[in-house]
Amino acid sequence: MKIIRTIQEMKAYIKSLQNERKQIGFVATMGYFHEGHLTLMESAKRENDAVIASVFVNPLQFGPNEDFDTYPRDEERDIQLARETGVDALFMPSAEEIYPQRPSITLSITERTDVLCGKSRPGHFDGVLTVLTKLFHIIEPNKVYFGMKDAQQTAVVDALIQDLNFPVELRGIETVREVDGLAKSSRNVYLSEKEREEAVWLYRALEKGRVLVADGETSPVTIINEVKQTITDNTNGKIDYVELYRYPDLKAVSKLNGQVVLAVAVHFNKARLIDNIIFDETGKKLTSFTNR
Ligand code: AMP
Repeated sequence: MKIIRTIQEMKAYIKSLQNERKQIGFVATMGYFHEGHLTLMESAKRENDAVIASVFVNPLQFGPNEDFDTYPRDEERDIQLARETGVDALFMPSAEEIYPQRPSITLSITERTDVLCGKSRPGHFDGVLTVLTKLFHIIEPNKVYFGMKDAQQTAVVDALIQDLNFPVELRGIETVREVDGLAKSSRNVYLSEKEREEAVWLYRALEKGRVLVADGETSPVTIINEVKQTITDNTNGKIDYVELYRYPDLKAVSKLNGQVVLAVAVHFNKARLIDNIIFDETGKKLTSFTNR
């Protein structure tokens, strides 16, 4: 596996792949790999000739009071896991390599961000889109892989690809969970033992909401209240939001009809956890997504 730290070296490598007519699958990450990341890489490996993954904790997407400085990092372990997973090249640029000076152009997304994490993390998705645009230009992938755990991010990447005409196929991959249902996340290491036990209620609460729908409930308010109540009854976490929107355009719905995302964000002492499930008006789950 190649470890590439500069844009120039990555571009030369991409050119060599293109000369060999190789299809490129790309997985963008902030590192500290867990099975969720590795599943994206495995999907990319199955569906492409070459897999490139990036590890870049992007300062632009963190707010002033967020965890940029303390975000967990472990380069050596990430290199080993990517190698074992069959990644062809791991792109690990420094912040100076990606942003040699203050960017004179940044992107600003106006749809799909006034809700969920976009509302509670102002500027976050602008930072995500700015770095992804750069990475897509550097790597020129044929297919990109994103996790449905970050359903809003996947919806925002879908908008980026449509609006800026990237010739890229988007693949949204099912959320990988611990055996008890907690969505795998690099931030789970911040949880105390007790919080770790409570955290399983995010997924259980979402499932309770989905079962209500399967039983015929069509009112978003009733579903949201059930989820909120379940989280409040079973955790000491502070709810940031419980919301339900049409997916992927994230428009409000007054009555369930078609595909929706039911999503939560909960603050524990040192970690803010998110989770979601996507389903239709019969309660049938959607686990993957594609823009094709
Ligand atoms: P991150 O390193 O947190 O920015 O995540 C990089 C990619 O991995 C994003 O596309 C995430 O949605 C995806 N991802 C994170 N956690 C999971 C998970 N539990 N299951 C599937 N994909 C995930």
